[in-house]
Amino acid sequence: MPAEFVAALPILETIEAAGFEAYFVGGSVRDTLLGKPIHDVDIATSAYPEEVKALFERTVDTGIEHGTVMILDHGQGYETTTFRTESTYTDFRRPDEVTFVRSLAEDLKRRDFTVNAFALTKDGEIIDMFDGLSDMDNHILRAVGEAEERFHEDALRMMRAVRFAAQLDFKIEAATLQAIKDNAPLLANIAIERTNVEFTKLLQGKAARYGLLEMIATNLNQYMPGLEVVDIDLIGYAELLADAQPQNDVAAWTLLVFELGLTPEDAVVFLKKWKQSNDMVKTIKASIKLLNKLRLGDVAAWDLYEAGNAIDNVLAVAKLSELVVDVAGLKSRYEDLKIKNKGELAFNGGNLTKELGMQPGPLFGKILATLEQKVVAGDLNNSHDVLLAEAQTMAEKAKK
Ligand code: ATP
Ligand code: MG
Repeated sequence: MPAEFVAALPILETIEAAGFEAYFVGGSVRDTLLGKPIHDVDIATSAYPEEVKALFERTVDTGIEHGTVMILDHGQGYETTTFRTESTYTDFRRPDEVTFVRSLAEDLKRRDFTVNAFALTKDGEIIDMFDGLSDMDNHILRAVGEAEERFHEDALRMMRAVRFAAQLDFKIEAATLQAIKDNAPLLANIAIERTNVEFTKLLQGKAARYGLLEMIATNLNQYMPGLEVVDIDLIGYAELLADAQPQNDVAAWTLLVFELGLTPEDAVVFLKKWKQSNDMVKTIKASIKLLNKLRLGDVAAWDLYEAGNAIDNVLAVAKLSELVVDVAGLKSRYEDLKIKNKGELAFNGGNLTKELGMQPGPLFGKILATLEQKVVAGDLNNSHDVLLAEAQTMAEKAKK
């Protein structure tokens, strides 16, 4: 048993001592069986939320209406969820109501895939109601129960299928795959933020190529903004992912945007449809600007300067892309830039006002922009005196 579970054993013991059942469930059990490191330990219990809260000194109501209480113990938080069933899905997404139950079996039945439906007892015994262990051995991703029904209940599960297939390098079982094909349009009912989470994980999976190709083969992409049309760009992207995986969300999305051939402006529109954070949009826009130039050939110092903090992302993505660029060379050219941002210029608006008596206006802005460009290009030293002399010359020329 991994240390993370061992550390959480006292929680199971406390709950059981009070006469309830408690198990480790979900992704951490699956990942342990796969020999992978685990992150969060999830617990399922027959105790109702109020009963859980009564047993522990420190708890937080993280999702009490779904039965989830976070138990805080030795600086760790453990999501503890009451066994539940989800009934009557009328909108293909959230259950109309969750019902707390006392039966583990009922709780495992509502889970999405057989390999996500294990329970682990405090004694290290695996409870496997749906032959998940054999699917695990065969590297198969299979819906729990009737796939069709399960995707009707929650259409996000179709995205989760391609996501887990990509992450685990499992093949999607035939009936499960067919049910995705038959029900792909239901994905339109899912909030883009939820689809985004799964898609972003897919793109970083070790079998991302397979996941993406199944996503396309089942037509899920037709219900994903900006990806409705499958062309060589999207397929080419899948092929790139065969050899290397992006190491983070930003790189994954940058590579996608780059392979789709979007302009920086279109990239912004695309990413906003996906409700990406402003930070991510900003980084990707700057990255795409430079990547598109690299695609055309050599770039100027100014292009590197404009990329700014996005430079590392650009280089990471360039390496994954079909571009043939001297990544180390670009990095050292960036490092060697005389200034990295306007703030590092040895002369600023304050100097213009104080030393040349100028007031803000078009000429004022033009002088500063020119100094910035010339310093970045290496045409002027970044020293106050040099820049003052240049500013003076420009100001005098403008007067004539
Ligand atoms: P990860 O390692 O990416 O967190 P995970 O398997 O833990 O993977 P979560 O989204 O954290 O996935 O969900 C935890 C568990 O809850 C899943 O393993 C599964 O049993 C169940 N689950 C989550 N989302 C759904 C869903 N949409 N439908 C059915 N069961 C779900
Ligand atoms: Mg999880």
